[in-house]
Amino acid sequence: TLPQRPFTHPHQSKELAEKDQQIYGLQLRDASTTTAHDQLILLVEDNEANIEIFAEYLQVWGYRVIVACSGSEALARAQEETPDLILMDVQLPEMDGLTAVCELRKTDAIKTIPIITLTALAMQGDKARCLAAGANVYLSKPVQLRQLVLTIEQLLAEQAAMPKEPTL
Ligand code: MN
Repeated sequence: TLPQRPFTHPHQSKELAEKDQQIYGLQLRDASTTTAHDQLILLVEDNEANIEIFAEYLQVWGYRVIVACSGSEALARAQEETPDLILMDVQLPEMDGLTAVCELRKTDAIKTIPIITLTALAMQGDKARCLAAGANVYLSKPVQLRQLVLTIEQLLAEQAAMPKEPTL
């Protein structure tokens, strides 16, 4: 017979969970090939399951993630936080993603931030409309997460290589 499991106090199970998280998190980080980074991504998405999947995945890769659930919230968060990159869902409540991208491009501090638009519609003309609104890249859902990270890495590398505008 197997010995009975010792009773675990709530504070002990919390310690255990934290320890497991540390070990597991380190293993995942070792498995990733990307260089360590700490860049801030603004995730604009209204679907809770998608928020969880994208945010968790991106965090494992070392990105910091902040979330906005509508176009108008995206404008506010982008101005407050000046993220390094914006992931923009197109179908959003209040203000849709394309309108939000157009608005973001009017703001000096934000107009050069790379934006990836994500749409589930995949209708003809979607790509052109996203790029015309000011997005750098258009991806249609379902998105391959690895593809998403590769796209993010590429845009951030291009951004870093861009000469800074002289300040007058
Ligand atoms: Mn949506």
